[in-house]
Amino acid sequence: MTIRKLPTVLINQIAAGEVVDRPASIVKELIENAIDAGSTRIDIQLLHGGKDLIRVSDNGSGIASEELELAVTPHATSKITEEADLAAIASLGFRGEALASIGSISQLLLRSRQEIAESGTQIEVDGGDLTMPKPVGASVGTTVEVKRLFFNTPARRKFLKSDGAETTRVREVVQRLAASHHDVAFTFRSGDALLLEYPQATSKERILSIFGRELDGELIEIDGSVEGIHLWGLVGKPSVARPTSRHIRVHVNGRTISDSSITHALKEAFRGLIEPKRWPTAALFLEMDPALVDVNVHPQKSEVRFRDKDSIWRLVNKTITNALLSQDIVPAYHPSEQLPSFGSGSHQASFGPTSTPSFDIEQARNAVSGIELPTQATPLPTILGPDAVMQVQKCFLVTQDEQGILIIDQHALHERIMFEELSKRIAEGNLESQRMLVPDSFEADSGQLEALLTHAGLFEKLGIDASASGPASISVYALPTLLVSRNVNGATFIRELLDSLGNSDFPSSEEEALSEILDMMSCKAAIKAGDYLNPRELADLLRKRKEIERGSNCPHGRPTSLRLSIEELEKRFGRR
Ligand code: ADP
Ligand code: MG
Repeated sequence: MTIRKLPTVLINQIAAGEVVDRPASIVKELIENAIDAGSTRIDIQLLHGGKDLIRVSDNGSGIASEELELAVTPHATSKITEEADLAAIASLGFRGEALASIGSISQLLLRSRQEIAESGTQIEVDGGDLTMPKPVGASVGTTVEVKRLFFNTPARRKFLKSDGAETTRVREVVQRLAASHHDVAFTFRSGDALLLEYPQATSKERILSIFGRELDGELIEIDGSVEGIHLWGLVGKPSVARPTSRHIRVHVNGRTISDSSITHALKEAFRGLIEPKRWPTAALFLEMDPALVDVNVHPQKSEVRFRDKDSIWRLVNKTITNALLSQDIVPAYHPSEQLPSFGSGSHQASFGPTSTPSFDIEQARNAVSGIELPTQATPLPTILGPDAVMQVQKCFLVTQDEQGILIIDQHALHERIMFEELSKRIAEGNLESQRMLVPDSFEADSGQLEALLTHAGLFEKLGIDASASGPASISVYALPTLLVSRNVNGATFIRELLDSLGNSDFPSSEEEALSEILDMMSCKAAIKAGDYLNPRELADLLRKRKEIERGSNCPHGRPTSLRLSIEELEKRFGRR
């Protein structure tokens, strides 16, 4: 093959592949342009998930009529002029390629008017071909319309998901940008439906309207600085931790980014306060001299490189840790979750036990599997008195077997019993369901609404009846009997379930998904640490333990019990 120089349109199409792969990335570029132009109001509209039309209008500075053509030309930008500018970028855009790229893979219309101009000007680009700019009536600001996305690159069009899924992604982009620009009003429509509306607001108000009103009163303000780097924002109390990391927003100089190091610093600050599998809720804003951060490292500008990553880690971790401490939040006590940390120092929880127990926990844990209680230790439930089993600190059950003292985690054990029972029942058919006297409603985002539609079959199997009861709300009409009988809050459970289902790493096979959900249900419904158990309940638990532990090992790798063997005790007390 001979080497030849590619035509400009093809170069732009290739560049477009990096920058604009779907409606959401186009909307991101267009909103960023509007923000860079100083807009205070941005309206976004889609038709068919953006496949047929994306329209973004702003009231920003506008573009001079004689520059309209340049705006859609590759590598033409008003935001930087020389190499030195690249080292300290203060605007969201700077590469000058978004509009040109979008124009090469769609029919693009750009209409703009500056305040000093008497009328607006409009230019169209059709798959890379420009028309002459012409005057049109327009209000001050800019409107960009993107029609027939990927009409000339059908292979790419095929990669687009359903209209609903694309709309959800756009919605997320709008929310991300809205979170960091509370002084800009946003509306987002799909067809005629108004999906989001954010008036200009304070930062806290904006975050609440994005994360959901139910977080009102649950957010802690944070503020801290180090060497010219300022961190502020809001973090949710441990009680509002979520099953996914979707409610973590990180912004650097107004740019939404993903950064594993910052997320890690945040999660570490919550260590011991939330279960290891859960994620904090947080909106973090870092402000710093643009020279301290390189934003030119990712095609879609969603990652950055900090000059001093470590001091940012410390700033985030310290500020949040201090804020949490000042709130006097009592750590949630999850003994079963923390046990594995005994063995390895690096996973040691900062709350909870600090010294290694004096017996060999690994050995004890191994000894637990397949354990059987001797018959005399498990008399009939009615006659098992509190002397045979003792509840310690409303958390552990202490009893004995032939080989020694058994210490049982009441939550872990009950969770496991529930899981086994549920697995058995679901293998036989749908779970038994109970209608609620009053439907439980909650505010839902489009991701949750979409998950509800996509997983209708799964919900039926689980005995859940929930449906959309408005453009942004879901009502729960029936729940599995087990959850109702254990007083589980339906709205909270369904919201978390939908969040998990919408998460990309949620298992796609039905079997795995069900097992994961039953696990969630069992955890929610199980007796908690802190619940008092009467003798009858204690006896019941031990009886069921015998039934389930005989047949299987712990399915989730979490021990429900430990044994302190007689041998070990004898050794410790110098009897051997
Ligand atoms: P970049 O944002 O990287 O400069 P773009 O291709 O996104 O590149 O835009 C090219 C130029 O068009 C911008 O530098 C800016 O001058 C102008 N422009 C684009 N969108 C707008 C807008 N909404 N309002 C004002 N000017 C705009
Ligand atoms: Mg741009």
